[in-house]
Amino acid sequence: MCYQGKTLISGYLDALEEYDRRHLMLVAAFRTGDPDGIEGFRSLAREAELTFRAARGRFQDHQKAHNCCKAIHFEEASNESAIIARRILQAGSQSSAAS
Ligand SMILES: [Zn+2]
Repeated sequence: MCYQGKTLISGYLDALEEYDRRHLMLVAAFRTGDPDGIEGFRSLAREAELTFRAARGRFQDHQKAHNCCKAIHFEEASNESAIIARRILQAGSQSSAAS
């Protein structure tokens, strides 16, 4: 995978993690029956979802155009592919000090 491909998938995964965080906060708000929390985290999660979908689109466009990272396929609404992508990314950047 080329540098730009890595950058794009990192951006996608960061956005996906942010979505997961907000979604977990939403679930917690449901559990505690906190209506303000539900409303707030619902809109934050929705916002984060738009961000990660856009980031995924940018990565997929690059993937199609450049064909440098064809091992990664995204399923709609599946985090499994993100986990696999993260693994591939980490395996590919063992030598770099990206945290
Ligand atoms: Zn590329």
